[in-house]
Amino acid sequence: MNAFGFEPQQDLATSQGRTGIIHTPHGDIATPAFTPVGTKATIKAVLPEAMAELGAQALLANAYHLFLQPGSDIVDEAGGLSRFMNWPGPTFTDSGGFQVMSLGSGHKKVISMSLADSAPDAADGARPREIYSTVGKSVGKSAGKSGKLVQVDDDGVTFTSHLDGGRRRFTPEVSMRIQHELGADIMFCFDELTTLSDPRAYQELSLARTTAWAQRCLDEHVRLTGERTHRPYQALFGVVQGAHYEDLRRKAVRDLVALRATDGSGFDGYGIGGALEKENLGTIVGWVCEELPADKPRHLLGISEPDDFFAAIENGADTFDCVSPARVARNAALYTRSGRFNVNTAANRRNFGPVDEGCDCYTCTHYTRAYLHHLFKSKEINANTLATIHNERFIVRLVDDIRASIAGDYFADLKADFLGRYYATRSSLG
Ligand SMILES: [Zn+2]
Repeated sequence: MNAFGFEPQQDLATSQGRTGIIHTPHGDIATPAFTPVGTKATIKAVLPEAMAELGAQALLANAYHLFLQPGSDIVDEAGGLSRFMNWPGPTFTDSGGFQVMSLGSGHKKVISMSLADSAPDAADGARPREIYSTVGKSVGKSAGKSGKLVQVDDDGVTFTSHLDGGRRRFTPEVSMRIQHELGADIMFCFDELTTLSDPRAYQELSLARTTAWAQRCLDEHVRLTGERTHRPYQALFGVVQGAHYEDLRRKAVRDLVALRATDGSGFDGYGIGGALEKENLGTIVGWVCEELPADKPRHLLGISEPDDFFAAIENGADTFDCVSPARVARNAALYTRSGRFNVNTAANRRNFGPVDEGCDCYTCTHYTRAYLHHLFKSKEINANTLATIHNERFIVRLVDDIRASIAGDYFADLKADFLGRYYATRSSLG
C-alpha cells in the first residue's frame, strides 16, 4: 500500500477553490500550499532549516539540473533527495521537460522555432522540431555557431548541456529513471512545452505527443516502482498541456485521466503546465479543474505574482511552485503588503524599520531596511539570505492566509483586501 493520497476538505461556495491534505511518505501538505523552488537541491542562500522555520511545507527541485550535476545516481546513493539536501519534509521534482527545451532561460523571450516554414511538416509529425536561441544569454554561448540547441521528435528530446556543451537525450523513460533516482515524493510526467506563438496545428501535434509520452511515463513509473521496493512510494502526476485552447485543454485532461498502466493504475495527481498568460491563467486553470477528478491533487507548474495565487486557487489548483520570490530577492526586490519595492534605492538608506511592517519572518524581526540596503550596496552575500527569507515567507504566508480564508469562508474579503493594498500604488518593479 502506498503512503500517498489526497483528502479534499472544504470547498469554496462560489468557485472551485478548496482546501485539502496531501499525504506523502515524508509528511502531509495542507493545501493550498506554496512550494518554494530549490532548483539544484538547495534554495539559493537559505538553509533548509530556515525554510522549515518560515513555514515551507514542501520543496521542488529540478530533474534536469540534478541529472547534469551531481548526477541522479549520486542523489540515489545518498538515500534520495530529502536525505541528500537535509530536508526531511515532502519534495517534488519536475520532469526536466521545461529545462531541456528552454535551458533555464525565460522561455517566451528566448526561444523561437523553425516552424514558420514547417507547419505542414509538423502537422504530420514527420519532421523533428528544432528550437533555436535568438537572444538568450547563457543559451547563446552554448549554442555554438549553428545556434541549434534542441531537437524534439516523437521519441524524445535531444539537447545541449548548458554545463559542458555535450549532447544529451531525454525521453519519457529517461526522465522517469532520473526522477526515481532523485526520489522525490511527487514527480511529473515528461511533456513537451509549446509556446503561445506556436500555431494551432502544432499545439495539436504536441498534445498528442505529450499524451503518448504520459502513457510511457506511467508504464515506466510502474515498472520502476516494482523494481525499487526499498524506496518509499513516489507519486506520479500527469501534466496537462493545450496552451490557451479550451477544447485542447479539456481533451488533454480527459485523455490523461483515462490512461492506465498494465497494472490498472492511473496518475496520482495532475500538473497544469504550459505557457499561460496572466490574463487567462484563472480561466485555463478553471477549465482543467472542471474536468479533473476531485479526489486527486492539482499542481500549477510555475506561477509568478501574488494575484496569480488568488486566480489559481479560486479556480481549483492546490499546490504551486515559483522561483520568483528567491530570484527577485537576489535583485533586492522585496514584497510588502503594499506592493513590491527595491531596497537598493536611496530612500532606504536611513530607514530603520523592517522590510514589511507586520511580517513575522526572521529578517523583519531582526533587521532593518537600512541594513539590507547596506548589504546589497556592499554586495555582501548575506543580503541574498535575508532578502530571500523574507520573500519566501511572504508568499508562504499569503497562501497560508488564503487557505485559512477558504476554511473560514472569507476568501472574497481577503482577496479584495490584499489585492487592493498590494496593487494600490502600482509601484511594483514589474
Ligand atoms: Zn519579513
